[in-house]
Amino acid sequence: MVRHSWQHDLDRWADPLAIEQVAAATGLPEERVFATTLASCEGVLCDSHIHAGGVHWILSVKPFYRTRKWYGQQYCAACLQEDPVPYFRRIWRLSFMVACPKHGTLLADACPHCGAPVSFHEGDYAHRRFPIDACRITLCRQCGEDFRLHAAPPADPDVVRFEQGLIETMAEGWSCLVPHQTIYGIAFFDGLHHLLMVLASNTGVRRIRECLLAEESQLGFPTPFSRATHHFDDLRVYDRYILVRLAARLIGEWPRRFLRCLQGCQGNQYLLGDQ
Ligand SMILES: [Zn+2]
Ligand SMILES: [Zn+2]
Repeated sequence: MVRHSWQHDLDRWADPLAIEQVAAATGLPEERVFATTLASCEGVLCDSHIHAGGVHWILSVKPFYRTRKWYGQQYCAACLQEDPVPYFRRIWRLSFMVACPKHGTLLADACPHCGAPVSFHEGDYAHRRFPIDACRITLCRQCGEDFRLHAAPPADPDVVRFEQGLIETMAEGWSCLVPHQTIYGIAFFDGLHHLLMVLASNTGVRRIRECLLAEESQLGFPTPFSRATHHFDDLRVYDRYILVRLAARLIGEWPRRFLRCLQGCQGNQYLLGDQ
């Protein structure tokens, strides 16, 4: 295997040598192995993939030696439970995925027992506490809890439908989520990312978020960041869920509700400069 491979984010790195070796070990074509990496989102979510540093839509796991220091690996416990051989889906590493389109529940981004970030490859690294036939990929590296045992709460049906639409957009290359419009997939994802950055911001444009939340009788929901750029992708899953829900409802009524909100909070002058 490629040296020091676990010190990288392997899903993003898509190292040609690693792909070649995995293909040889599994008997699968290299194209099939490459399709499991986040690099294969190039041309779908973005024009070009970069394997390190901030990039739209890809959650960071912050690799630190062999472990993962941040909450960028999400999962659906029900999906893992149903798998004959559990595996972590590629889409669980994408920041717009906050709910399972199949089970309609919120995704989790940490161990439900101890709160540690998910680092499934560590399984039983060095400790050898688990029985040899245990399915280690679903066990918390820190406390040994099995992620499959914890049912997740239901997500808002609007969000679940929106997530299904996003997956269709990835597959088709076109989005039909904006009423009466068909939009090129990459352009749609670019626009959606900008909207989510605006909704995540604590700068002047926060009034838009506050206005939308007030319409739904919710509290102000301050995000932990003072700038908008890229920070949507750094938020924990529940924070992103709140923002994706707002975006889904805005897009479902695009552009009427957005324009009404801008008028209400006089925030339009901030939108162009909030980068
Ligand atoms: Zn699921
Ligand atoms: Zn744990």
